[in-house]
Amino acid sequence: LPAARVECPQTEDIARLLPAPGGDSDKYRRGVLAIAAGSARYRGAAVLTVGGALRGGIGMVRYAGQRDAVDEVLRSWPETVASVLDPLDPVNGLPNRVAAWVIGPGRGLYPAAMMELAWVLSKELPVLVDADALTLVGRNPEVVRERQAPTLLTPHTGELTRLLPGTDRADVEARRLEYATRAAEEYGCTVLLKGSTTIVAEPGRPAVVNPTGTPLLATAGSGDVLSGLIGSLLAGGLTPREAALCGAYLHGLAARVANNGAPVSASDLLEALPRAIQAVR
Ligand code: AMP
Ligand code: MG
Repeated sequence: LPAARVECPQTEDIARLLPAPGGDSDKYRRGVLAIAAGSARYRGAAVLTVGGALRGGIGMVRYAGQRDAVDEVLRSWPETVASVLDPLDPVNGLPNRVAAWVIGPGRGLYPAAMMELAWVLSKELPVLVDADALTLVGRNPEVVRERQAPTLLTPHTGELTRLLPGTDRADVEARRLEYATRAAEEYGCTVLLKGSTTIVAEPGRPAVVNPTGTPLLATAGSGDVLSGLIGSLLAGGLTPREAALCGAYLHGLAARVANNGAPVSASDLLEALPRAIQAVR
């Protein structure tokens, strides 16, 4: 077997890629991100995903979800443009005229969730698929395989195992680079594999390993922040590969600077993100 080629981004690479608002920017041109995350049961996932996007730098977040989740999002982030979905007709009411989508964190696996996911993936827009939505993709791989527009899957080890039937956790843990690459090839899209190392894989290109990761990130809600953050970069015009690299880099840096090396919560990551971005610029 040929040795896998791996790349590792430097601070300058991230600085060069990060979108910066200019004099002619407005909120639409900076990017509008739609977020379908959280549910009545997991309201916090909605708040953290929206927060990751707002702190990442974006023109506007359009959130859509169940009433309780909408209320929670607006309490934490009043700048969000939010709409309440009818649980029986979840597709009617999803935002149009956006630049990119994030779908999945804390969303649940109720029957309408698959309709919602199929609707989002039918758009000719970049889509980040995470968490519960990855479980749905594992059951219906064609919804991603048949897509032409850019797609980014962001599984942790367990979610990757569900995306590749016949594999088990121990296999994936032992050969993370190979499995991330295999998922990218099987789904024909970009894959960011989360965990002890964060790997970004794409068909036909060398994989990239994020250098800033830290086990401090292993805390509830941390992945939701990452999804929102990467979503903001997608909406800002980066490719899935660029957005995944920059997002993972800043996410790791935020964990390191948040409490000077002491443990962090996902909310701490949000608070530290501006300092992480300053450190890179
Ligand atoms: P999630 O499982 O979706 O909440 O995401 C967890 C986040 O924490 C991801 O960004 C992972 O890459 C990160 N993470 C989890 N475990 C570790 C670890 N042992 N070392 C470094 N990062 C980790
Ligand atoms: Mg997660």
